Amino acid sequence: MTGHRPRAALLAAAVPLAAAVTAAALRAARLELYVDRYRLELTPLPRPDCPDCHGEGGWWTGGPDPDMEACGCWTDRRGLRLPFLPRPAGWDEPPF
Ligand SMILES: [Zn+2]
Repeated sequence: MTGHRPRAALLAAAVPLAAAVTAAALRAARLELYVDRYRLELTPLPRPDCPDCHGEGGWWTGGPDPDMEACGCWTDRRGLRLPFLPRPAGWDEPPF
């Protein structure tokens, strides 16, 4: 049983370090991570140094019915979606 303590201590130290490294890598790559029991998603974010949108992700077009035009700094990059578990039947229906 004493052999498990160093391994548990090493694991307890490694998990926060891995989480911090992952968070820094996602920030540097301008990706947003979402994870739940059903899926993992990496979604591209606008680049703050973008000369077109200046990190806003797009701009409003003029006219009587303005519409938002998305910037290519995040729409041209691919995201990732990994499904884990199938959704239960009726998960997106209102409860009442
Ligand atoms: Zn942009």
